Amino acid sequence: TMRAAVLKRQGVIALETLAVPQLEADQVLVQVAAVGVCGSDVHYYEHGRIGDYVVDHPLILGHELSGRIAAVGDAVDPARIGKRVAVEPQRPCRTCTQCRAGRYNLCPDIEFYATPPIDGAFAEYVTIQSDFAYDIPDNVSDEAAALIEPLSVGLWACERAGIRPGRRVLIAGAGPIGIITAQAARAFGATEIYITDIAEDRLAFALEHGATHVMNARTDGVEGLDVDA
Ligand SMILES: [Zn+2]
Ligand SMILES: [Zn+2]
Repeated sequence: TMRAAVLKRQGVIALETLAVPQLEADQVLVQVAAVGVCGSDVHYYEHGRIGDYVVDHPLILGHELSGRIAAVGDAVDPARIGKRVAVEPQRPCRTCTQCRAGRYNLCPDIEFYATPPIDGAFAEYVTIQSDFAYDIPDNVSDEAAALIEPLSVGLWACERAGIRPGRRVLIAGAGPIGIITAQAARAFGATEIYITDIAEDRLAFALEHGATHVMNARTDGVEGLDVDA
C-alpha cells in the first residue's frame, strides 16, 4: 500500500492509504521524491473544477514531479530501476491521428495527471510510460527536477515566439509561469525582458529572477514598447 493526499471534494484533502498502482508492460513505477503545486491544483482544491473538468470523484492532485524508478513493467529494461527521473505527466493514446503526427499533446484521449478522473502525484508512487520518465543528472536536485514540467511551458513559449539572442520580450503576468518564462527567455538570449503584473511583490521577485524591467499593469502602459515578442 501507499499513502496519498486525496482531494475528497472541494476544499477537503485527506491522507489515505491506497493500493500501489498496477504496472502495465511499458510503464515504470516511480517512487515520488518532490512535487510542485500548480495553479491548477489550487483551482481544483478551491473551486472543485476547471471549466468542464469537475472533481466529482476523489482525486489525487499534483503533476510536477520527480522521483526514483522503483519497478518496471515486463517490456522495460530492468536497468532503469533506481534511476532518478523527471516525469512528463501524461499518457497519450499513441494511435490517433494527432499522436501519429507527433502532436501527442493534442491527443483527444490523453490522460493527464491530476485532471479528473486521472490521479496525480501527491502520493508515494505513480506509474508512467517508461519513455515519459526522463533520467536526470546527479547535480539536479529532486526539487529542481520536479520543476522541469513548468519549465517546459516557458521553453515552448519562447520556441513558439521565436526568441533569439538580442530580442526584446514582453511577458504578461509575473506568476510562477511568467517568471519561469522570463528565465527561459534569458536563456534563449533575449536582452530586454519586460514583465507585467498588478502585484508589486511579484514584480519585485520577477526582477530578481529573470526579468530586466517590470511594469505595473494598473499604472504603466505597454503601448510604444515595440517589443519583438
Ligand atoms: Zn501545471
Ligand atoms: Zn492519441
